[in-house]
Amino acid sequence: MEKTKKYCYGFCLLISIAINILFTINLYVGGGQEISHRPLTWSEKAAVEAEEVAAISCSGHGRAYVDGIVLDGKPVCECHVCYGGTDCSELSPGCATDADGGDPIFMEPFWMQHASDSAVVISGWHRMSYRYADDTMMSKELETYIRKMHSIVKNAVTEGRYVVFGIGSTQLLNAAVYALSSENSSSPSNVLASAPFFPTYKAQTVFFNSENFQFEGDTNSWQSNNSTNNMDVIEFVTSPNNPDGELKDSVIGGKTIYDHAYLWPHFTPITGPSDHDVMIFTLSKLTGHAGTRFGWAIIKDKDIYEKVLSYISFADFGISKDTQLRVLKLLKVAVEGDGQPLFRFSYRKMSDRWDRLTSVMSKSTRFSIQQRHPLHCNFFNETRLPSPAYAWVKCEREEEYDCGAVLEAGKIIGRSGSTFSAEDRYTRLSLIRSQDDFELLLQRLTEFVSLEKGSIETM
Ligand code: PMP
Repeated sequence: MEKTKKYCYGFCLLISIAINILFTINLYVGGGQEISHRPLTWSEKAAVEAEEVAAISCSGHGRAYVDGIVLDGKPVCECHVCYGGTDCSELSPGCATDADGGDPIFMEPFWMQHASDSAVVISGWHRMSYRYADDTMMSKELETYIRKMHSIVKNAVTEGRYVVFGIGSTQLLNAAVYALSSENSSSPSNVLASAPFFPTYKAQTVFFNSENFQFEGDTNSWQSNNSTNNMDVIEFVTSPNNPDGELKDSVIGGKTIYDHAYLWPHFTPITGPSDHDVMIFTLSKLTGHAGTRFGWAIIKDKDIYEKVLSYISFADFGISKDTQLRVLKLLKVAVEGDGQPLFRFSYRKMSDRWDRLTSVMSKSTRFSIQQRHPLHCNFFNETRLPSPAYAWVKCEREEEYDCGAVLEAGKIIGRSGSTFSAEDRYTRLSLIRSQDDFELLLQRLTEFVSLEKGSIETM
C-alpha cells in the first residue's frame, strides 16, 4: 500500500513538472498568447509581437521590422548592403560598398543596449486629437527635454528662446528662409551658403520658387560680385559643416540660419554654447533616428518664431503626436547620466572609425582627407580631435579630377563634390552607417591604398 502511494506521488510530481515545462515553452516559444491562464493584455500582445520580430537574428547583417514585408507569416530580413539570402548570411564578394547617404545607423547598437528603456507602446487610441490639452500642437514635456539636452551638452543657449518642432530639420530650413525673407520688398531675398554646402539649401529654395526668396549660390563668390549694402541676404551657416566637418561662421553677418545638425559631442568638441538668432537641430544626427523625422529650431525673435510656427501650421498642422511621443522616450534615455552613456558610446564609435580611417589614408599619396585640429570640449572636459560624420576625400593625382569615378572603380560609392557645389576632385564618404558598411569601406580603401605603388589601370 505504502509502495503504491509512493508511486502515485512520483507520478503526480512528474505530471506537474511536465505541465510546467509545457506552460513555459508556450510562453517563450509558442508566442506567449497566455500568461498564467489569462489572455494577454493589449500592451503585452504588442510587446510579444515586437519581441518576436526583434528576435529574428538576420545573422547580424540585417534587421526584420514589425512593418516589414511578410513572407510565410514572418517579416523578412532586410539585409545590409552587400549581404543577401533569407537570413542575410551571404556576403557577395565583389559588391560595391555604399558610403553614400547620411543614415546614422552607427547609433543602433546603443539603442539595442537600451532596449527596455527606449521602447514605446502606442495604444490604438493614443492622442487622436490634432491638439494637446493646452490647445497647442507641441508637447510641452518634449520641449522641456530638448532644453534639458542643450543645457547638459552646453551646445546652445535656450533661455529666453522659442522652440518650434519640424518634420525633420529639413522642413525647418525652408520655414526659416520663409520667416527671414522680406515680404514687401521689390526684390526677393538672396539666399546664400558657403561651398562646399549641403545641397538641400539650394534644392528647397529653388523648388519652392517663391517671390520672396531666391538661391544665389556660394557666399564668397556672391560677395565678390555684389556689394552687400542694401542687399537683402539670408545666409546658411552649417557648423560643423556637411560635407567637411569644419566649424563655420557667418561671412556676411546679416540674417543667418545656423544649421547645427552635427553640433553634438560625437562629431565635434563642444567649445561653447551657440548663441544665434536662428539655430536648427535634428534628432537624426543626435540619437540616430533619421526615420522618425524630427527636428527643432531655437529662435530668439518673437516675430520670426511666429512665422516659423505658421509655416509648420500651414504645411502640415503640426508634427505627428506619435513621433513626439517616441522622441520624448528617446530623449529621456539620452539625458540619463547627464548624457554620458549616450555620448561616450557615440564618440567612441566615431573616434575609433576616424583612427582606423586615418591610419589607412596616411599611407596614401593618391588620396587625402580633411585636416582635423584639436579643440577643448566642454562636454567631455578634455582636448580632443573632431570626429566628423563624413570623410571629405580629395584625389591628389592631377589626371584624377573625377574622384567619385576613381573610387567607384574600386567599388566604393561616395557622393561627388559637385553635389556640394565643390569640385568633383572631392568625394564625400559617410562614416555614420552600419558597422558592416564601415568595415567594407575600410577594406576597400585598404585594398586601394595597397595597390597604389602599382599601376592606376589596375583599379
Ligand atoms: N542639415 C544638414 C547639414 C544635414 O546634413 C541634414 C541631413 N543629412 C539635415 C540638415 C536634415 O536632417 P533631417 O531632415 O533628417 O532632420
